[in-house]
Amino acid sequence: MTAGTNRRGDDQAAKIVVGVDRCEPVPVYRALLPTADRLLRYLEVIDANRYYTNRGGLVEGLEDRLRGLIAAPACAVITASSGTAALQAAILATAGRATDARPYAVVPGYTFVATAMAAEACGYRPLFVDIEAGCWALEPARLRAAGLLDRVGVVLAVAPYGRAHDQAGWAAFVRDTGVKVVIDAAASFERLIADPARLTGEVPVVVSFQATKAFSTGEGGAVIWSNIDGILKTVQALNFGFLYSRDSRSSGINGKMSEYHAAVGLAGLDEWAARAAANRAINDAYRHAAGAAGFGERLICGPTIASNYALYRARSEADAARVVTALTIAGVEHRYWYGRGVHREPYFRRDDVVLPETDMLAESLIGVPIYPGIEIATIARVVDAIATMETVRD
Ligand SMILES: *Cc1c(COP(=O)(O)O)cnc(C)c1O
Repeated sequence: MTAGTNRRGDDQAAKIVVGVDRCEPVPVYRALLPTADRLLRYLEVIDANRYYTNRGGLVEGLEDRLRGLIAAPACAVITASSGTAALQAAILATAGRATDARPYAVVPGYTFVATAMAAEACGYRPLFVDIEAGCWALEPARLRAAGLLDRVGVVLAVAPYGRAHDQAGWAAFVRDTGVKVVIDAAASFERLIADPARLTGEVPVVVSFQATKAFSTGEGGAVIWSNIDGILKTVQALNFGFLYSRDSRSSGINGKMSEYHAAVGLAGLDEWAARAAANRAINDAYRHAAGAAGFGERLICGPTIASNYALYRARSEADAARVVTALTIAGVEHRYWYGRGVHREPYFRRDDVVLPETDMLAESLIGVPIYPGIEIATIARVVDAIATMETVRD
């Protein structure tokens, strides 16, 4: 018997046991990008120009429109082939590669692995630091006070789930300590639209346009920054260290966005207003359903966080385990989007790293299904499943 048939057998057995055989499983996310007919006019531009990559007209058009939407007026937006490539380029542009004197990059325990991977790709050893419970993130003044910056070359501040970050606080941190910062705001597209003047500026901000993010080009990302020298270095880092010539003058990668990905982004912006309205309706429906079921304060969704996430915040590890069981029985997928913290991923694991706030948050924040087109009945199914466990208390 192959693994595939074995798994199907197990699934069928589970369905019979719990009596949900008429229900399809609910995926935790289901991306929806522009359809072929919406892409066509942009693809025809590519066909006519025979220009496919290396900062063509569609990439520049996308950057212009993004700048109007998500960046303060003095900032530029430079696209990249992924959020991770954009992170690497921003690190290289603001801090350069790791040195013997400063081999470490501060990375919060609570983030997606890409943050630490990008640091490592630039030669840094991740120094995992605990988050603050209230904001789920590093806090600039607290990090300064911790006194561990002597051998740190860059700080990667993270805006978890697209929550607002402290641009002014990190800018002051850079001025006072001399240690460079990159803000990994991968999921913050909607937050940036809501408040570009407060969230973008002197400290480079990185977003991701990967397919599970609220706005997507399939794969893609961008750096948003008011420092023009930094922006040029970002462009250079994304293109093998070339700038205005084919002489490689700095450490770099091939991190450029292609014209095809830009076409997806442009078509996505064409329909963004309608998408944003639909996202708001889904968030409202979720909040309303959770409120009616008596756990409104435990369900976190937009606009506090990005619209591609809905999180159930458990009271304890035991509560989390019960909710996960209830979801599984109901055929509802869940996901710990940041695993149990990046410091507990097998590759990065170090037994001497103890991050209690990260551990506690990572155990308690459970991602539940939300996606474009999710139906009210599906939201009700998720909420009902959680509600069956809400009546049980530690
Ligand atoms: C999605 C994400 C990334 C990575 O972005 P990619 O576009 O997938 O490379 C990095 N950091 C965080 C916090 C993310 O959520």
